[in-house]
Amino acid sequence: MTKILVVAEHHDGKLNAATAKTVSAAAAISGASIDVLVLAADPAAVAAQAAQLAGVAKVLTVANAANAQALAQVLAPQIAQLARGYTHVFGPSTTFGKDLMPCVAALLGVNQVSDLMSVEGSHSFKRPIYAGNAIITVDVPADQIVVATVRAASWPEAAQGGSAPVEAASVDAALPTHTRFIGLAAGATDRPDLQSAKRVVSGGRGVGSEENFKVIFQLADKLGAAVGASRAAVDAGYVPSDLQVGQTGKIIAPELYVAVGISGAIQHLTGIKDAGTIVAINKDPDSPIFEIADIGLVGDLFTLLPELEAAL
Ligand code: FAD
Repeated sequence: MTKILVVAEHHDGKLNAATAKTVSAAAAISGASIDVLVLAADPAAVAAQAAQLAGVAKVLTVANAANAQALAQVLAPQIAQLARGYTHVFGPSTTFGKDLMPCVAALLGVNQVSDLMSVEGSHSFKRPIYAGNAIITVDVPADQIVVATVRAASWPEAAQGGSAPVEAASVDAALPTHTRFIGLAAGATDRPDLQSAKRVVSGGRGVGSEENFKVIFQLADKLGAAVGASRAAVDAGYVPSDLQVGQTGKIIAPELYVAVGISGAIQHLTGIKDAGTIVAINKDPDSPIFEIADIGLVGDLFTLLPELEAAL
């Protein structure tokens, strides 16, 4: 029987949307029984949210002060121990999952399947390679536990409406002492999270400076959107690197993506392949971004954005 353990990602007592997408990927394996694992100092609130996801059979919790921060080296031995009763262990392909799941795979002595975008069978999956320009099918030996990260942009969130039981799991895995939490340096923002936002406004090199980027933030605020950027804008120091969208940045799938002063290099487009409506604002009518945009506005962004904002 296929038994899948989905590792929950959460922050400040809230379940990340990427977990609900990972549950959808697990549910694509026919006949699978899906449990969600919540590791935290106090997992109750997150477990209650996970229990509401449709298709979840059971929520397992591990309450431990050591789990207050998501340190891969601390979480992995606990997950590896609990994984023994499962055929699959899935985590989201977010920064959290990309850090954690290779450690889990190593402890279980298997290779990780990365960026799972579709399910062909219980041990056969499709994933993108070469910046999304090619798709390969990866087959895992049938007698091997499958440890995989799930490409969040390829899956919808599992619906609400479940009422899975919550159970405390007992774990006695030895936790490492070589990795300790010292502090978290994260930019505080009230804006939606770039990776899960339904709307994103991104600026590129065409924005010209850190100071000018305020026009991007203003439009984003008007739309209730997260802010992203091209690598050129990040490299030029206009915005921090955690806003970068693309092959070496975040892969996102918002319903609306507005690209402002971005040319549309393949490495940028890789990050927005699964976006819904793409709007491009660029002064060069021959810019490649217009080849993939649903709506294109040719003109100077410093003229068009205030007009757009006023119209909104
Ligand atoms: P440009 O290509 O310089 O385009 C700027 C655009 O702004 C132009 O189209 C111009 O017409 C327009 N413009 C200028 N002024 C105005 C104005 N006033 N009004 C309107 N439009 C204006 N890039 C990413 O974005 N993400 C990645 O993850 C990424 N990973 C990479 C990985 C590798 C291995 C490599 C080699 C490259 C990667 N890149 C990535 C870089 C990528 O190749 C491009 O260099 C980059 O995306 C270009 O950014 P840009 O579109 O902002 O800049």
